[in-house]
Amino acid sequence: MRTDVLIIGAGATGTGLARDLALRGVSCVVVETGDVNSGASGGNHGLLHSGGRYVSNDTEAARECREEGALIKRLAPQCVEDCGGLFVAVAGDDERFVADYPGWCAAAGIEVCCLEPAEARAMEPVLSPKVIAAFAVPDATIDPFRLALENMAHAHALTGCTLLRRTRVTGMDVDAGRVVRVHTVNTVSGEAGTIEAAQVVSATGAWAGRVAALAGAHIPMLCSQGTLLVTHERMTRRVVNRLRPPGNGDILVPGGTVSILGTTSVTVDDPDRARPTVAEADENLRQALPMIPSLAYTRFVRAYCGVRPLISAGGGDGRAVSRGFMLYDHTDAGLSNFCSVTGGKLTTFRLMAEKTADLVCARLGVTAPCRTRTEPLPAAPACRWTEPGFAPRLWAQRHDADDPLLCECEMVPASAVDSIMNDCGQQFPDPGLQALGKRSRIGKGSCQGAFCGVRVAAHLYDTGHYTSPRGLARMREFFTERFKGQRPILWGPQLIQAELAEALHCGLLGLELGDPEAAPAAGKDEEARS
Ligand SMILES: Cc1cc2nc3c(=O)[nH]c(=O)nc-3n(C[C@H](O)[C@H](O)[C@H](O)COP(=O)(O)OP(=O)(O)OC[C@H]3O[C@@H](n4cnc5c(N)ncnc54)[C@H](O)[C@@H]3O)c2cc1C
Repeated sequence: MRTDVLIIGAGATGTGLARDLALRGVSCVVVETGDVNSGASGGNHGLLHSGGRYVSNDTEAARECREEGALIKRLAPQCVEDCGGLFVAVAGDDERFVADYPGWCAAAGIEVCCLEPAEARAMEPVLSPKVIAAFAVPDATIDPFRLALENMAHAHALTGCTLLRRTRVTGMDVDAGRVVRVHTVNTVSGEAGTIEAAQVVSATGAWAGRVAALAGAHIPMLCSQGTLLVTHERMTRRVVNRLRPPGNGDILVPGGTVSILGTTSVTVDDPDRARPTVAEADENLRQALPMIPSLAYTRFVRAYCGVRPLISAGGGDGRAVSRGFMLYDHTDAGLSNFCSVTGGKLTTFRLMAEKTADLVCARLGVTAPCRTRTEPLPAAPACRWTEPGFAPRLWAQRHDADDPLLCECEMVPASAVDSIMNDCGQQFPDPGLQALGKRSRIGKGSCQGAFCGVRVAAHLYDTGHYTSPRGLARMREFFTERFKGQRPILWGPQLIQAELAEALHCGLLGLELGDPEAAPAAGKDEEARS
């Protein structure tokens, strides 16, 4: 295969870069070892930072977040919930920090409004009565899945840019200072392939050091795992941050119908082995209770984690490292057509893509300017199913008695599944339950796939997408993936629910028995992540 630009990694940065290049008329291929957002872009809070989190320790990152956050709100409103955010201190927190906070915000150009504690509690009744100070900032939330899918969809519409899922880059041939060939392996079939590209970009986040090494280049990565917990229901209207230096359990972010509590920072050697742990779940809860006491008896449905791609500036832990990004042109390694972009934030993905596209275009001799700063991101119909509440609204409007609900927690009807299967089928055959889950709300509700997994699989058999026992294997992969996120939070009602699901899956479906047909290797690959 040949292409002008090969992008490795389909997170926010890689898919954003594909769109930026497409808007400049440059075609590319994106290769991804898993599916879209298999890395940190699918394992974060979904906070569209106002910058308020970083004003005390990283003014530059705070300014970048403020500017990019405002741009995304304007240009991709379909991916954003502009809910606002609060920073609150409770009795015992550092009052010097509280006093300095508005000045730091002003220095970074961030709008901040001082609230009375009672006012903040009226706005968010779950806040502790021990709140002593509160500030409102323009935080928002963003749906990273819709964002990445829409960037890919727009790039595809503009230049035919394709995404090769389940395709891992395993090697690069370098000759006379150029990457002349990139070696890949299909993680489902094991088939090897090669891609030749005029320019090669690694947008592989926490894996950037490993991928750069394939071409003999070096990036000093520091991989920092963060674990997050998902509550059964949404607890606040706004993002609620603890008013203190960044630390564990200091933020509760609304994510549509649920809230997301985070997060820890644990340095890890291998991003492929990242898993949410019981210790991190406990630590998040312990730290958050003084701010939101009702978390003590809140039901959590899932834990998940991501690995921050941080640049190691020689020592220091993950909290101390800048959230700024780095673009490596790799000329120090004698390479002229390979670069890596890593670090940064979900919030700054567009800027990362812009700077990378500038370098790539200069190397290709393309003079077209960046347009992502001004062009709205079109809302693609195929990408709308990730939005909480979208499927139920549409279903209710249609009044169609022949359109059964397959997922009752998130109210996803059969017509939504059919629509996603049709859209996916155009780009890649046999997407399976995992891919359906990434493109919809299936498996995200309180049953965590226990019931909807079975119903969706049955529907795929009924509609002819599954024709062999392989569908059962797909279902098992889906449950395994969902269960990984439940293990660290199995107590109280959640434990009861998990045992019921296990009894159903083993008693009715025999899913604890071996595969009638071997499970595809792809499932195992996906399982290694998130
Ligand atoms: C716990 C946590 C919470 C966070 N919260 C926020 C937040 O609320 N707001 C915010 O703005 N930012 C947040 N971040 C930061 C943000 O998630 C990341 O900075 C951003 O998602 C990185 O995107 P990326 O595309 O550069 O990398 P990634 O999303 O990690 O994408 C890299 C991709 O490369 C693929 N890949 C790796 N190796 C290969 C290979 N050899 N071949 C093919 N593909 C490969 C991976 O599978 C992956 O999909 C958070 C991060 C973490 C970990």
